[in-house]
Amino acid sequence: EKQALLVSACLLGINCKYSGGNNFKEEILNLKGKYHLIPVCPEQLGGLTTPRNPVELRGEERSAWTSCGVEVTTAFIKGAEETLKLAQLFGCKVALLKENSPSCGFGTIYDGSFSGQKKEGMGITAELLHQNGIFILGENQLSVLEEQINE
Ligand code: SF4
Repeated sequence: EKQALLVSACLLGINCKYSGGNNFKEEILNLKGKYHLIPVCPEQLGGLTTPRNPVELRGEERSAWTSCGVEVTTAFIKGAEETLKLAQLFGCKVALLKENSPSCGFGTIYDGSFSGQKKEGMGITAELLHQNGIFILGENQLSVLEEQINE
């Protein structure tokens, strides 16, 4: 049986990005031959609309704010919890997530100033998945996934 792999839905061409577009990557879609892909968009699962204003995380408390100054932390937390639920329902051990996103990013994220600058950190969903033992990879780390299969 194929291993279930949680994937940021925008990487599969779903138009769930804040702009109404996506972040399609053909090599990620091609993984469906080897894996059972489970697409998720935490921001939509948290109840936010598409399109929506872009969001970045601020401060130590990691609250989520739109570029217009509206706080959406509650929606971000709900989206993270729903995503974890899906990961657990399907037994996903690995999640392949969009880098730098305030929800899906892992390692670096945008710094809260909406200027394109990045800082060390993780998105709210990536953090919750990580805390629950799910191995997180960014969309540019496919080679690590290949190593995992070949083990
Ligand atoms: Fe993609 Fe994640 Fe942003 Fe949804 S929340 S659009 S899946 S990066």
